[in-house]
Amino acid sequence: MYKPETIKQLLERNPLNDSVTVMGWVRTFRSNRFIALNDGSTLTTLQCVVDFETLEDGLLSQIHTGTALKLTGLFVESQGKGQSVEIQVNNLEILGTADPDHFPIQPKKHSLEFLREKAHLRIRTNTFAAIMRVRSALAFAVHQYFNSNGFFYMNTPIITGSDAEGAGEMFKLSNTDFFGKETHLTVSGQLEAETYAMGLGKVYTFGPTFRAENSNTSRHLAEFWMIEPEMAFYDLEDTMELAEDFIKNTIGYVLEHCKEDLSFLEQRLTDEDKTKPENERSPMLLLEKLKFVVDKPFIRLSYTEAFEILKYSKENQKKKFKYPISEWGSDLQSEHERYLVEKHFNAPVVLFDYPAKIKAFYMRLNEDQQTVRAMDVLFPGIGEIVGGSQREERLDVLELKINQMGIDAQELWWYLELRKFGTAVHSGFGLGFERLVMFATGMGNIRDVIPYPRTPQNAEF
Ligand code: ATP
Ligand code: MN
Repeated sequence: MYKPETIKQLLERNPLNDSVTVMGWVRTFRSNRFIALNDGSTLTTLQCVVDFETLEDGLLSQIHTGTALKLTGLFVESQGKGQSVEIQVNNLEILGTADPDHFPIQPKKHSLEFLREKAHLRIRTNTFAAIMRVRSALAFAVHQYFNSNGFFYMNTPIITGSDAEGAGEMFKLSNTDFFGKETHLTVSGQLEAETYAMGLGKVYTFGPTFRAENSNTSRHLAEFWMIEPEMAFYDLEDTMELAEDFIKNTIGYVLEHCKEDLSFLEQRLTDEDKTKPENERSPMLLLEKLKFVVDKPFIRLSYTEAFEILKYSKENQKKKFKYPISEWGSDLQSEHERYLVEKHFNAPVVLFDYPAKIKAFYMRLNEDQQTVRAMDVLFPGIGEIVGGSQREERLDVLELKINQMGIDAQELWWYLELRKFGTAVHSGFGLGFERLVMFATGMGNIRDVIPYPRTPQNAEF
């Protein structure tokens, strides 16, 4: 195996009574003797015991929380409680010091808000290291899922020439001379992914998307990573099936492969809950919640059915909603989605067949001429995690829609050509990766599940 070895690899190999070398950062140093060393490979810290009487002068005083070290010593069964193995250090090298008067990540509880301002160092905490390991595992699970289900990974442009996607406010690029036209940062790779689905069959993108979201919410970023599968010959039912299976598989993957980190995050959440009023606490523990999603079928119902439930709900009758439900056809607000998911069904909900007026131009019109083959997957604590649809494959209907919505058809010439040459039923969805990471880790703010969040008035780092 290639060296240097990580602490995770070392613990798995368990080379009892061998001499080993490790490198990492000091988490704590106590009694001038016990170093808890972490290298990021695992939540577990390795206890490294130094003999301060034989240690070179001046070394001891440099060992603080945050110091980077290289240690060599005997890997042995531990005499002490709290760990099964330890290293009896016989050689210690200081790689980099960390002045305790200035290093902000000290072994005490730091607020998530404080750590956001130290985003370059927050990865040295157990919480952020656990979150980012889970994030990495989830990304791997995404690729694995699609790869083993016959999908091809494709990359759609980040700079786009069309502003007709209608998925949200776009960031404009200033150098129009360069491209000879106005360009934007993409809000979605869907339209381009559709073109590839109509040649490769099943494709997916997994890349950065940008929205000039002006609202400062705990679920929106200006830059986020979106997973967008797009499939030829899939209708809406097939796509709802895929979305559910995909979520169950990726969550199932981290349940299996990130046990240690998830247990830690569960404990963190439980501790955090204790500081909250009873009615704001999570009714389920994190692992229980993840297993629940993996095991239970999602509830499927049409917008119209959801509308009826909401309209006749106690909340609505007693005027408890900020946006009362009265007219069929209005968009559901997050308070309504939360009511359905968290109160009424207490399960993930897939809503479909939305009013055409509140959805994008490319969604397939139903026979009733009022609704489109759209679907949203709504999650407890998260709200919308997936938005998708069956795409309008009929040229005449699509052109009519584009005209009605006042969209410039000329810009979409290539998109319309798909409907002229070998058009077919096809569908897809978009899933915000950070919302999936939020759900898996139980974190309540999207700023804490991406290394460097981009939000209004915040592009530090
Ligand atoms: P929302 O209603 O939450 O703003 P949306 O309807 O704008 O979502 P879509 O355009 O359907 O969302 O995008 C697909 C998915 O991308 C959403 O289901 C969500 O998971 C994610 N998403 C959308 N906007 C953001 C954002 N600003 N930050 C992070 N994820 C997002
Ligand atoms: Mn939005």
